[in-house]
Amino acid sequence: MNDPTRAKVEAWLRYYRDIGVKDFYRDRASRIVTEMLATPGNQTASGRIGLSLEEPMKPLSQPALSRVAVQPLSAPALPILQSASLFDAADRVEGDTLESIRADIGDCTRCRLHKARTNIVFGVGNPKAELVFVGEGPGHDEDIQGIPFVGRAGKLLTQMIEAMGLRREDVYICNVVKCRPPENRLPERDEIATCSPFLMRQLGVIAPKVIVCLGACAAQTLLATNAGISKFRGQWFDFHGSKLMATYHPAYLLRNPPAKGEVWNDLKKVLTLLGREVPKRAAQR
Ligand code: SF4
Repeated sequence: MNDPTRAKVEAWLRYYRDIGVKDFYRDRASRIVTEMLATPGNQTASGRIGLSLEEPMKPLSQPALSRVAVQPLSAPALPILQSASLFDAADRVEGDTLESIRADIGDCTRCRLHKARTNIVFGVGNPKAELVFVGEGPGHDEDIQGIPFVGRAGKLLTQMIEAMGLRREDVYICNVVKCRPPENRLPERDEIATCSPFLMRQLGVIAPKVIVCLGACAAQTLLATNAGISKFRGQWFDFHGSKLMATYHPAYLLRNPPAKGEVWNDLKKVLTLLGREVPKRAAQR
């Protein structure tokens, strides 16, 4: 193996290690290579297969989605995205901690979102939280402070949490991507694919009773679907031992205050599932 090839292989292995994939099995690769060699047109003049380690690194397609065994409890079937199963091994890595995940992220440059960020916004809150909120990505204020949900939408989320009779310190709050997308655009599919394995590891370590996805991006990522959020908002799904529900993002509520009632109904279901009383004052809102 020449030096450039070795460097590329090492870069791939570092990436897989950082997202929690520790093991590679030769027999599966051998079978694939054997099948490829047996397929007409896959061999080059030199007899090598037509794929090469010399190819540039590409973002993986939908890795995080692949490891989600989603069972809707009472929801209609969602159109599930097709994806490979590379990330099954990243589920609940033995001995994993939030600190080790943050250390693996390091000063990350794995996707283009690193170029304009000020701070990586990893996540904040109780590492043993029963309830985790997942948004799509940091905005301007979050990027500056390195803390998720601290801008206008974040203040509304804090109010929602307090209306539930909880404090921000009681829950855990994080995002699908850890760096701010420029101009607050939606994260792109390859950016989500590169960053979301770290979210999966965070959820695996915290192992909350309930995950609330704030907005379509988080919900579609964790549920591996491209269905619109209105199709499944407020419904329960099984997600690796947790219960998962999607509701509207607080930024959407700032633009559409009447939707607050629907979100509050969703949060009441969350409180019920957690075995907590719905606070009287909030219940009358
Ligand atoms: Fe790395 Fe995630 Fe930031 Fe992309 S968004 S640079 S993968 S931490």
